Amino acid sequence: MTARILVVDDVPANVKLLEARLSAEYYEVVTASNGYEALEFCENNSVDVILLDVMMPGMDGFEVCRRLKSQPATAHIPVILVTALDQDMDRITGLNFGADDFLTKPVNDLQLLARVKSLVRLKNLTDELRLRVATTRDVGLESILRFPSGTEAIARDAKVLLIDERPGSVERIRTILAEECTVDVQTDPQTGFFDAIQGNHDCLIIASSFADYDPLRICAQLRSLDNTRSMPIIIVADQGEEPKIRRALELGVNDYVVRPLNSNELLARLRTQLRRKAYHDGLRASVVKTYEMAVTDSLTGLHNRLYLETHLATLFKRAVDRRRPLSILMTDIDRFKLINDTYGHDGGDEVLREFARRLRRNVRGSDLASRYGGEEFFIVMPDTDLTMAAIVAERIRREVASTPFFVDDGVTSVPVTISIGIASVQSKDDSVQNMLKRADEALYGAKASGRNKVVSEAA
Ligand code: GH3
Ligand code: MG
Ligand code: MG
Repeated sequence: MTARILVVDDVPANVKLLEARLSAEYYEVVTASNGYEALEFCENNSVDVILLDVMMPGMDGFEVCRRLKSQPATAHIPVILVTALDQDMDRITGLNFGADDFLTKPVNDLQLLARVKSLVRLKNLTDELRLRVATTRDVGLESILRFPSGTEAIARDAKVLLIDERPGSVERIRTILAEECTVDVQTDPQTGFFDAIQGNHDCLIIASSFADYDPLRICAQLRSLDNTRSMPIIIVADQGEEPKIRRALELGVNDYVVRPLNSNELLARLRTQLRRKAYHDGLRASVVKTYEMAVTDSLTGLHNRLYLETHLATLFKRAVDRRRPLSILMTDIDRFKLINDTYGHDGGDEVLREFARRLRRNVRGSDLASRYGGEEFFIVMPDTDLTMAAIVAERIRREVASTPFFVDDGVTSVPVTISIGIASVQSKDDSVQNMLKRADEALYGAKASGRNKVVSEAA
């Protein structure tokens, strides 16, 4: 997975060192020797991860980070602060300025690569989601794409799952987190795993060691399940557990803290994870909403033609493969032009909406009801043969003809009738096109024989 890494440091030797290590891993490396240069580069070019020196003359790394995170165009780019001082205060300042991670000089090779790799992975996910959101014309786009700032507190309703079997450690972590969010504790790793996969938690904090269980197994499993693939995981390690931490990060664990715990650091790291999760959840929801809009008919809320055409092919193939029946009802409102002419276009629209409501009431959840266009509606019914389909069609026809529709806010009643043509999958040589053609012919037959009728395809 290649990516463009921006290395920012005022000391040329430091730049060279990082550049050499990253280039050796086939990353594309660009460099800047001060904060202004870095900001300018990010404004005009795409960057996947930034390695940012803290101590620089002019503008220090904290300030560069703050500016990057306050601009919508650059706020989502992961920033790793590189600090010479391994001091808690610096780390916490950095996290609160929105930094995503830290490295301490001299930079440990494996740590560097693990961190960069994990953030590149995250950035790719972010990019993909941002792209999908951005390619649609969404009114709320600006607010959706805005990355939340580092100083925003944890949402009060955030729920954290803590899996740890050591009572002292559980108490310590619970106390640290209690002020800002809800903490559920599981002392048994297996039970904890099952709790995690329910998907009710915003973040998992897990101890790095248990008496007779490898917690990395849980991490790996969580990463392989849909429900928890993107759940943030923070591991709580002991000093000297470098190799285990490295393995954890490679497995997709998002972050780690080392005992003795610094409460501010833990909170700041948790905040970073929750912030990113909220951001991804928002993007994802927007993608889903956009997708739904694309396949939904806005007037009736039924599926639209695009959806029907995509799914009919799938349902048809499945029916043929499994030798199961499948039927389609092609439904058309009779003399709809006349309804428009008499009650106005708005009246016509109201009739279409009410028809969709009646249709919904009369089909099963597994049936696919859609508005194909204008006043034509198709209902695809899996596991339904021609005889059964005719019974359903007749019920719908009666439901429409027997009770008048109302327009003008319920003032004017409108008699409405529909005609329905039915076709079913015939043999394994049948095709969607042929089935639709037969349904269309049957519908034509219903219209020709006086309307308000159900006609099945010719035997
Ligand atoms: P038939 O009984 O033969 O089906 O006659 P019809 O008048 O229903 O058929 P035709 O296809 O000639 O007319 C359909 C009309 O539906 C024409 C079009 O203006 C109207 N229509 C299409 N989409 C909409 C819509 O979204 N809202 C409204 N109000 N009318 C629509
Ligand atoms: Mg420096
Ligand atoms: Mg019609």
